[in-house]
Amino acid sequence: MTVVPAKGWCPGAYRPMMSGDGLIVRVRPRLGCLTAIQVLGLCEASQHFGNGIIDLTSRANLQLRGVDEKDHAALMQRLDALELLDADPEIEVRRNIIVSPFWEAGDLTVRLHGAISERLADLPALPAKMGVCLDTGKEAMLRGVSADFRFELSMEGVLLLRADGASEGHPVAEADAGAALIEMAEWFCKTGGIAAGRMSRHLKTASLPDEWHWLKPRWDVSTLSPGASHAGLIYGAPFGSLDAKALRGLFQSSNATALRVTPWRLFLLEDAEPSPDFGFVINPGDPLLQVHACPGAPACSSATVATRDLARKLAARAPRGLHVSGCAKGCAHPRATKTTLVGRDGGYDLVKEGCPWDAPLRRAVSAEEMLTSLD
Ligand code: SF4
Repeated sequence: MTVVPAKGWCPGAYRPMMSGDGLIVRVRPRLGCLTAIQVLGLCEASQHFGNGIIDLTSRANLQLRGVDEKDHAALMQRLDALELLDADPEIEVRRNIIVSPFWEAGDLTVRLHGAISERLADLPALPAKMGVCLDTGKEAMLRGVSADFRFELSMEGVLLLRADGASEGHPVAEADAGAALIEMAEWFCKTGGIAAGRMSRHLKTASLPDEWHWLKPRWDVSTLSPGASHAGLIYGAPFGSLDAKALRGLFQSSNATALRVTPWRLFLLEDAEPSPDFGFVINPGDPLLQVHACPGAPACSSATVATRDLARKLAARAPRGLHVSGCAKGCAHPRATKTTLVGRDGGYDLVKEGCPWDAPLRRAVSAEEMLTSLD
């Protein structure tokens, strides 16, 4: 096992990352979907080998937290038995594919996923955070989701491959999708993209071949909310955190048949029937969906303050946005927010209309100042 202590790494199952609460072991469900056996097995594995918390990530992956180093090998065996592990660690690293959540068996998204998965070994070595999105469902949904190579549809329904950061993509025949992806990835490497790390950063200084600027993708983007959908019930996971015991309870009591993960701290239970919510969010207006908070102390060794209890207490008072960050790194939401409380030396600094790493308006704010800052 290679344990990666450095922050900023994308942890995988084979190469977990050490955090304040133990190893973080990332699982990448194929097509973002887990069968009933996989859901229940993962919950059991989280409780047995980890601390019972499973993160739902912004790349639609799942992370088991709090795994002891000595248990990693046994956990890998369990994941393998659940068919949640790639046989080859190198393929696991490359399998960064996000799909639109409403795919149906045999549709374009599923076919593309299969074709691209088969060509992963032919891709050049890319920075670990780079990935592919397949936004090829009936409606565009993934425009705001982090990805570097975007398969999309034009307004006319033509399949496109678009480099992230470019406004247009180029038409691709479905049968050539894997080859087109490899060609674009090789262009990225040959033109110095590795140093930039991501496609959109690279395009600030590099120009794509003219023939890759051809058609704009569908511009209307649909969003997902908790509640009923044609595929099942959609639930929100506050802070992107799933309690394994609660998830198992919800899954079983709703008679769901499968779970789909999404990049928006929401998950879909296929064929689910209404049941107790087990602490998950089913109301689209729930203020908990609008607040961000990383695990904080004691889970993360960089934090000197707790985060999520405070975020829960303040959520209803912060309709215009709140981020409680354990430190200035801002993992939970590396973007500007109306109000950000940043942990430092056991207290909280206040940033308004900025990111956690921006200069604070006030340092070491009191509980009263926190409340007035939310207005
Ligand atoms: S932002 Fe939170 S999770 Fe990220 S390093 Fe800081 S304390 Fe840890």
